[in-house]
Amino acid sequence: MLHVKNLTFSYNKTPVLSAISFNAKQGEHVAIIGESGSGKSTLLKVLYGEYDLDKGHVFWNDEEILGPKYNLVVGYDFMKYVAQEFDLMPFITVEENIGKFLSRFYPEEKQRRTEELLEVVELTKFSKTKVKTLSGGQKQRVALARALAKQPEIILLDEPFSHIDNFKKQSLRRSVFRYLKEHNITCVVATHDKEDVLGFADRMIVLNDNKIAVNDYPETLYKNPKTPLIASFFGEFNVLNNQIVYAHQLKVVDQSELKAIVKQSFFKGHYYLIEADLNGEQVFFEFSMQANKGTELFLKVIEH
Ligand code: ADP
Ligand code: MG
Repeated sequence: MLHVKNLTFSYNKTPVLSAISFNAKQGEHVAIIGESGSGKSTLLKVLYGEYDLDKGHVFWNDEEILGPKYNLVVGYDFMKYVAQEFDLMPFITVEENIGKFLSRFYPEEKQRRTEELLEVVELTKFSKTKVKTLSGGQKQRVALARALAKQPEIILLDEPFSHIDNFKKQSLRRSVFRYLKEHNITCVVATHDKEDVLGFADRMIVLNDNKIAVNDYPETLYKNPKTPLIASFFGEFNVLNNQIVYAHQLKVVDQSELKAIVKQSFFKGHYYLIEADLNGEQVFFEFSMQANKGTELFLKVIEH
Protein backbone atom coordinates (compact mmCIF):
# COMPACT_ATOMS: atom_id res chain seq x y z
CA MET A 1 0.00 0.00 0.00
CA LEU A 2 1.16 3.49 -0.87
CA HIS A 3 0.63 5.79 2.05
CA VAL A 4 1.02 9.54 1.49
CA LYS A 5 0.76 11.56 4.63
CA ASN A 6 0.57 15.33 4.78
CA LEU A 7 3.02 15.78 1.89
CA THR A 8 4.10 19.38 1.42
CA PHE A 9 6.56 20.47 -1.24
CA SER A 10 7.79 23.68 -2.81
CA TYR A 11 10.35 24.59 -5.47
CA ASN A 12 12.49 27.37 -3.98
CA LYS A 13 9.78 28.57 -1.60
CA THR A 14 6.99 28.49 -4.24
CA PRO A 15 4.50 26.04 -2.76
CA VAL A 16 3.30 23.44 -5.25
CA LEU A 17 1.84 20.73 -3.04
CA SER A 18 0.36 21.38 0.33
CA ALA A 19 -0.78 18.80 2.89
CA ILE A 20 -1.46 16.03 0.36
CA SER A 21 -2.69 12.79 1.94
CA PHE A 22 -4.03 9.68 0.22
CA ASN A 23 -3.54 5.93 0.00
CA ALA A 24 -3.36 3.49 -2.87
CA LYS A 25 -3.83 -0.21 -2.18
CA GLN A 26 -1.86 -2.99 -3.86
CA GLY A 27 -3.18 -3.32 -7.40
CA GLU A 28 -5.23 -0.16 -7.21
CA HIS A 29 -5.27 2.36 -10.08
CA VAL A 30 -5.33 5.97 -8.86
CA ALA A 31 -5.67 8.81 -11.37
CA ILE A 32 -4.27 12.22 -10.52
CA ILE A 33 -5.95 14.94 -12.51
CA GLY A 34 -5.71 18.70 -12.55
CA GLU A 35 -5.07 21.56 -14.90
CA SER A 36 -1.69 22.09 -16.47
CA GLY A 37 0.62 23.45 -13.75
CA SER A 38 -1.46 22.02 -10.90
CA GLY A 39 1.43 19.87 -9.73
CA LYS A 40 0.68 16.41 -11.14
CA SER A 41 4.20 15.80 -12.43
CA THR A 42 5.73 17.24 -9.28
CA LEU A 43 3.63 14.90 -7.15
CA LEU A 44 4.82 11.85 -9.08
CA LYS A 45 8.45 12.94 -8.82
CA VAL A 46 8.12 13.50 -5.10
CA LEU A 47 6.47 10.08 -4.66
CA TYR A 48 9.42 8.58 -6.53
CA GLY A 49 11.91 10.21 -4.20
CA GLU A 50 13.35 12.62 -6.74
CA TYR A 51 12.97 15.57 -4.35
CA ASP A 52 13.05 16.02 -0.60
CA LEU A 53 9.76 16.92 1.05
CA ASP A 54 9.27 20.10 3.06
CA LYS A 55 6.93 18.17 5.30
CA GLY A 56 5.16 14.84 5.48
CA HIS A 57 5.96 11.25 4.59
CA VAL A 58 5.56 8.77 1.78
CA PHE A 59 5.55 5.06 2.55
CA TRP A 60 5.38 1.99 0.38
CA ASN A 61 4.25 -0.63 2.91
CA ASP A 62 6.75 -0.25 5.75
CA GLU A 63 9.46 1.46 3.74
CA GLU A 64 9.70 5.22 3.73
CA ILE A 65 10.47 6.78 0.34
CA LEU A 66 13.30 9.22 0.88
CA GLY A 67 14.64 12.01 -1.27
CA PRO A 68 18.20 12.71 -2.44
CA LYS A 69 19.23 14.16 0.90
CA TYR A 70 18.91 10.71 2.46
CA ASN A 71 19.46 8.48 -0.54
CA LEU A 72 22.55 8.29 -2.71
CA VAL A 73 20.67 6.74 -5.62
CA VAL A 74 17.19 8.01 -6.37
CA GLY A 75 14.51 5.33 -6.62
CA TYR A 76 13.67 1.89 -5.31
CA ASP A 77 13.40 -1.51 -7.02
CA PHE A 78 9.73 -1.92 -6.16
CA MET A 79 8.76 1.38 -7.74
CA LYS A 80 9.12 2.55 -11.33
CA TYR A 81 8.42 5.92 -12.82
CA VAL A 82 7.82 6.90 -16.43
CA ALA A 83 8.35 10.62 -16.88
CA GLN A 84 6.49 12.88 -19.26
CA GLU A 85 9.88 13.24 -20.98
CA PHE A 86 11.23 9.72 -21.16
CA ASP A 87 14.90 9.08 -21.31
CA LEU A 88 15.85 6.12 -23.44
CA MET A 89 19.09 4.96 -24.96
CA PRO A 90 18.78 6.11 -28.56
CA PHE A 91 21.54 4.12 -30.22
CA ILE A 92 20.42 0.65 -29.20
CA THR A 93 17.32 -1.25 -30.30
CA VAL A 94 13.88 -1.34 -28.75
CA GLU A 95 14.40 -4.83 -27.30
CA GLU A 96 17.81 -3.88 -25.92
CA ASN A 97 16.29 -0.86 -24.19
CA ILE A 98 13.58 -3.02 -22.62
CA GLY A 99 15.99 -5.78 -21.62
CA LYS A 100 18.63 -3.38 -20.34
CA PHE A 101 17.80 -3.97 -16.69
CA LEU A 102 17.05 -7.69 -16.96
CA SER A 103 19.75 -10.15 -15.96
CA ARG A 104 21.85 -11.41 -18.84
CA PHE A 105 22.50 -14.58 -16.86
CA TYR A 106 19.04 -15.84 -17.75
CA PRO A 107 18.94 -15.23 -21.50
CA GLU A 108 15.81 -17.31 -22.16
CA GLU A 109 13.84 -15.67 -19.41
CA LYS A 110 15.10 -12.29 -20.57
CA GLN A 111 13.97 -13.02 -24.12
CA ARG A 112 10.55 -14.30 -23.00
CA ARG A 113 9.98 -11.30 -20.78
CA THR A 114 11.05 -8.83 -23.48
CA GLU A 115 8.68 -10.44 -25.98
CA GLU A 116 5.80 -10.36 -23.52
CA LEU A 117 6.33 -6.64 -22.88
CA LEU A 118 6.72 -5.86 -26.57
CA GLU A 119 3.25 -7.34 -27.01
CA VAL A 120 1.78 -5.31 -24.15
CA VAL A 121 2.95 -2.06 -25.76
CA GLU A 122 2.27 -3.35 -29.28
CA LEU A 123 5.82 -2.93 -30.54
CA THR A 124 6.69 -6.50 -31.49
CA LYS A 125 7.39 -5.48 -35.09
CA PHE A 126 9.90 -2.88 -33.92
CA SER A 127 11.99 -5.04 -31.61
CA LYS A 128 15.14 -4.72 -33.74
CA THR A 129 14.67 -1.02 -34.56
CA LYS A 130 17.04 1.54 -33.10
CA VAL A 131 15.21 3.81 -30.69
CA LYS A 132 16.52 7.02 -32.24
CA THR A 133 14.51 6.32 -35.40
CA LEU A 134 11.19 5.89 -33.57
CA SER A 135 8.39 8.45 -33.33
CA GLY A 136 7.57 10.16 -30.02
CA GLY A 137 4.66 7.83 -29.40
CA GLN A 138 6.73 4.72 -30.07
CA LYS A 139 9.42 5.95 -27.69
CA GLN A 140 6.78 6.48 -25.04
CA ARG A 141 5.77 2.84 -25.47
CA VAL A 142 9.37 1.66 -25.11
CA ALA A 143 9.66 3.68 -21.89
CA LEU A 144 6.52 1.99 -20.55
CA ALA A 145 7.78 -1.48 -21.40
CA ARG A 146 11.15 -0.77 -19.84
CA ALA A 147 9.53 0.38 -16.60
CA LEU A 148 7.54 -2.85 -16.46
CA ALA A 149 10.52 -5.09 -17.27
CA LYS A 150 11.45 -5.90 -13.69
CA GLN A 151 7.84 -6.19 -12.52
CA PRO A 152 7.57 -3.32 -10.06
CA GLU A 153 5.03 -3.40 -7.23
CA ILE A 154 4.01 0.16 -8.05
CA ILE A 155 4.39 2.26 -11.16
CA LEU A 156 4.04 6.03 -11.52
CA LEU A 157 2.97 7.11 -15.01
CA ASP A 158 3.04 10.72 -16.13
CA GLU A 159 0.56 11.25 -18.99
CA PRO A 160 1.51 7.82 -20.35
CA PHE A 161 -0.33 8.05 -23.66
CA SER A 162 0.11 11.75 -24.41
CA HIS A 163 2.43 11.21 -27.39
CA ILE A 164 0.49 8.32 -28.84
CA ASP A 165 -1.80 8.91 -31.79
CA ASN A 166 -5.52 8.19 -31.67
CA PHE A 167 -5.22 5.14 -33.91
CA LYS A 168 -3.26 3.29 -31.24
CA LYS A 169 -4.31 5.00 -28.04
CA GLN A 170 -7.46 3.05 -27.17
CA SER A 171 -6.03 -0.42 -27.64
CA LEU A 172 -2.75 0.46 -25.97
CA ARG A 173 -4.52 1.91 -22.96
CA ARG A 174 -6.59 -1.24 -22.56
CA SER A 175 -3.53 -3.43 -22.98
CA VAL A 176 -1.32 -1.57 -20.48
CA PHE A 177 -3.99 -1.09 -17.81
CA ARG A 178 -5.11 -4.71 -18.19
CA TYR A 179 -1.50 -5.84 -17.72
CA LEU A 180 -1.15 -3.77 -14.54
CA LYS A 181 -4.42 -5.16 -13.10
CA GLU A 182 -3.56 -8.75 -13.99
CA HIS A 183 -0.20 -8.43 -12.26
CA ASN A 184 -1.67 -6.58 -9.29
CA ILE A 185 0.68 -3.62 -9.83
CA THR A 186 -0.43 -0.41 -8.13
CA CYS A 187 -0.45 2.53 -10.52
CA VAL A 188 -0.64 6.25 -9.99
CA VAL A 189 -1.37 7.94 -13.31
CA ALA A 190 -1.18 11.68 -13.89
CA THR A 191 -3.42 12.70 -16.74
CA HIS A 192 -5.66 15.38 -18.16
CA ASP A 193 -7.50 12.94 -20.41
CA LYS A 194 -10.79 11.53 -19.11
CA GLU A 195 -10.27 8.49 -21.35
CA ASP A 196 -7.38 7.45 -19.11
CA VAL A 197 -9.71 7.56 -16.12
CA LEU A 198 -13.20 6.35 -17.02
CA GLY A 199 -13.34 2.60 -17.22
CA PHE A 200 -9.86 2.18 -15.75
CA ALA A 201 -9.18 4.17 -12.57
CA ASP A 202 -10.44 2.96 -9.19
CA ARG A 203 -10.02 6.38 -7.61
CA MET A 204 -9.63 9.87 -8.96
CA ILE A 205 -7.78 12.64 -7.16
CA VAL A 206 -8.27 16.22 -8.33
CA LEU A 207 -5.45 18.67 -7.63
CA ASN A 208 -6.32 22.34 -7.37
CA ASP A 209 -4.73 25.26 -5.50
CA ASN A 210 -1.86 23.02 -4.34
CA LYS A 211 -4.29 20.74 -2.56
CA ILE A 212 -6.46 17.71 -3.12
CA ALA A 213 -9.86 19.13 -4.08
CA VAL A 214 -11.53 15.71 -4.06
CA ASN A 215 -10.61 12.05 -3.90
CA ASP A 216 -13.46 9.78 -4.92
CA TYR A 217 -14.68 7.13 -7.36
CA PRO A 218 -14.60 8.40 -10.96
CA GLU A 219 -18.24 7.38 -11.40
CA THR A 220 -19.34 9.37 -8.35
CA LEU A 221 -17.48 12.46 -9.55
CA TYR A 222 -18.79 12.07 -13.08
CA LYS A 223 -22.40 11.77 -11.94
CA ASN A 224 -22.15 14.51 -9.38
CA PRO A 225 -19.37 16.92 -10.34
CA LYS A 226 -19.42 19.33 -7.45
CA THR A 227 -17.42 22.06 -9.17
CA PRO A 228 -17.03 23.38 -12.72
CA LEU A 229 -13.40 22.23 -12.60
CA ILE A 230 -14.46 18.60 -12.16
CA ALA A 231 -17.23 18.88 -14.76
CA SER A 232 -14.87 20.44 -17.30
CA PHE A 233 -12.62 17.40 -17.02
CA PHE A 234 -15.46 15.16 -18.21
CA GLY A 235 -16.85 17.31 -21.00
CA GLU A 236 -18.88 20.26 -22.17
CA PHE A 237 -21.19 21.52 -19.43
CA ASN A 238 -23.48 24.38 -18.38
CA VAL A 239 -24.35 25.94 -15.07
CA LEU A 240 -28.15 26.35 -14.95
CA ASN A 241 -29.73 27.61 -11.72
CA ASN A 242 -26.47 26.87 -9.94
CA GLN A 243 -26.65 23.25 -11.12
CA ILE A 244 -24.01 21.66 -13.30
CA VAL A 245 -25.64 20.14 -16.35
CA TYR A 246 -23.57 18.37 -19.03
CA ALA A 247 -24.30 19.21 -22.65
CA HIS A 248 -25.63 15.68 -23.19
CA GLN A 249 -28.15 16.17 -20.37
CA LEU A 250 -29.96 18.91 -22.27
CA LYS A 251 -32.41 17.31 -24.66
CA VAL A 252 -34.23 19.09 -27.44
CA VAL A 253 -38.03 18.70 -26.97
CA ASP A 254 -41.13 20.03 -28.79
CA GLN A 255 -42.02 22.56 -26.14
CA SER A 256 -40.60 23.69 -22.79
CA GLU A 257 -39.84 26.68 -20.60
CA LEU A 258 -36.26 26.73 -21.83
CA LYS A 259 -36.10 28.37 -25.24
CA ALA A 260 -32.65 28.53 -26.78
CA ILE A 261 -31.62 30.39 -29.91
CA VAL A 262 -28.91 28.66 -31.90
CA LYS A 263 -25.62 30.47 -32.47
CA GLN A 264 -23.44 27.73 -33.94
CA SER A 265 -23.37 23.96 -34.60
CA PHE A 266 -20.26 21.81 -34.39
CA PHE A 267 -20.14 18.41 -36.08
CA LYS A 268 -19.03 15.83 -33.49
CA GLY A 269 -19.63 12.53 -35.24
CA HIS A 270 -22.83 10.93 -33.99
CA TYR A 271 -24.23 14.30 -32.81
CA TYR A 272 -23.85 18.03 -33.23
CA LEU A 273 -22.74 20.21 -30.33
CA ILE A 274 -24.94 23.28 -30.41
CA GLU A 275 -23.91 26.60 -28.93
CA ALA A 276 -26.98 28.70 -28.18
CA ASP A 277 -28.31 31.62 -26.21
CA LEU A 278 -30.67 30.86 -23.33
CA ASN A 279 -32.09 34.05 -21.80
CA GLY A 280 -28.87 35.89 -22.46
CA GLU A 281 -26.63 33.05 -21.21
CA GLN A 282 -24.50 30.82 -23.38
CA VAL A 283 -25.53 27.12 -23.33
CA PHE A 284 -24.16 24.01 -24.96
CA PHE A 285 -26.20 20.91 -25.78
CA GLU A 286 -26.12 17.91 -28.05
CA PHE A 287 -28.52 17.49 -30.93
CA SER A 288 -28.89 14.81 -33.58
CA MET A 289 -29.10 17.35 -36.38
CA GLN A 290 -27.31 20.45 -37.51
CA ALA A 291 -29.22 23.61 -36.59
CA ASN A 292 -28.88 26.94 -38.35
CA LYS A 293 -28.08 30.17 -36.60
CA GLY A 294 -31.26 31.79 -35.23
CA THR A 295 -33.24 28.53 -34.94
CA GLU A 296 -35.37 28.29 -31.79
CA LEU A 297 -35.06 25.03 -29.89
CA PHE A 298 -36.71 24.00 -26.62
CA LEU A 299 -34.65 22.21 -24.00
CA LYS A 300 -35.28 19.87 -21.13
CA VAL A 301 -32.81 18.74 -18.46
CA ILE A 302 -32.61 14.96 -18.15
CA GLU A 303 -30.85 12.73 -15.61
CA HIS A 304 -27.78 10.73 -16.60
P1 ADP B 1 1.53 19.60 -14.07
O1 ADP B 1 2.27 18.33 -14.26
O2 ADP B 1 0.21 19.41 -13.35
O3 ADP B 1 1.33 20.36 -15.34
P2 ADP B 1 3.94 20.51 -12.71
O4 ADP B 1 4.11 19.60 -11.55
O5 ADP B 1 4.78 20.26 -13.90
O6 ADP B 1 2.38 20.56 -13.10
O7 ADP B 1 4.18 22.00 -12.23
C1 ADP B 1 3.59 22.53 -11.07
C2 ADP B 1 4.16 23.91 -10.81
O8 ADP B 1 5.53 23.82 -10.45
C3 ADP B 1 4.09 24.84 -12.02
O9 ADP B 1 3.81 26.13 -11.55
C4 ADP B 1 5.50 24.75 -12.58
O10 ADP B 1 5.83 25.93 -13.26
C5 ADP B 1 6.33 24.56 -11.35
N1 ADP B 1 7.57 23.77 -11.61
C6 ADP B 1 7.62 22.57 -12.20
N2 ADP B 1 8.88 22.09 -12.24
C7 ADP B 1 9.66 23.05 -11.67
C8 ADP B 1 11.07 23.15 -11.38
N3 ADP B 1 11.92 22.18 -11.70
N4 ADP B 1 11.49 24.28 -10.76
C9 ADP B 1 10.63 25.26 -10.40
N5 ADP B 1 9.31 25.23 -10.62
C10 ADP B 1 8.81 24.13 -11.25
MG1 MG C 1 2.93 17.40 -15.98
